[in-house]
Amino acid sequence: MTTAPVWLFDLDNTLHDASPNIFPHINRSMTAYLERHLALSNDEANALRMHYWRRYGATLLGLMRHHATDPHHFLQETHRFERLHKLMVFDRALKAMLKKLPGRKIVFSNAPRAYIDAALEVMGIRGLFDDVVGIEALGMQPKPGIAAYRKIIRRYRLEPRRCIMVEDTAVNLRTARMLGMRTVLVGAGTRHPAYVDVKIRSILKLRRAAGSLYG
Ligand SMILES: [Mg+2]
Repeated sequence: MTTAPVWLFDLDNTLHDASPNIFPHINRSMTAYLERHLALSNDEANALRMHYWRRYGATLLGLMRHHATDPHHFLQETHRFERLHKLMVFDRALKAMLKKLPGRKIVFSNAPRAYIDAALEVMGIRGLFDDVVGIEALGMQPKPGIAAYRKIIRRYRLEPRRCIMVEDTAVNLRTARMLGMRTVLVGAGTRHPAYVDVKIRSILKLRRAAGSLYG
């Protein structure tokens, strides 16, 4: 007897390509937020944004720790897209691939919930996921911190050995593996760490490549 897996999907640079438009927009918005709320020059704000991102893995965490920034306000202001559908870069074949993939599917992202929902809507795949977990539901504690994974495991009563996590950020898969999940790294890079079970260049290859992980 086989048991269908539970898929945990990252969003940005896993289900779509955020690099051309989305990430630059978010970075500019974050810099502008720091300028405005911390009274910094553009250069200072940009440097501080990068500093917090490197030190804490997320600019938001540095702002919360050192400036008592309201995370909801920050996320709302920095993920405001006038015409998201014009900015999204994704493959229309994604929907058909996901449809054929057996098992529950959950989006597990460090991004804010409203943005995740909007992005899935643009791609026409929102209905293919059983649920969506964003940074708010993680108590603002992002991947790769183990607290985020424990939250999602508890919330959906997941058995880690039945889970397959799909991600473009390798370090996020390290925590998944530590907990007993199987791991798929998506991206063009050549790195293939030991904690990655399967590596694929494009999400469209997932169904074929990951067949060995379940069934
Ligand atoms: Mg990502």
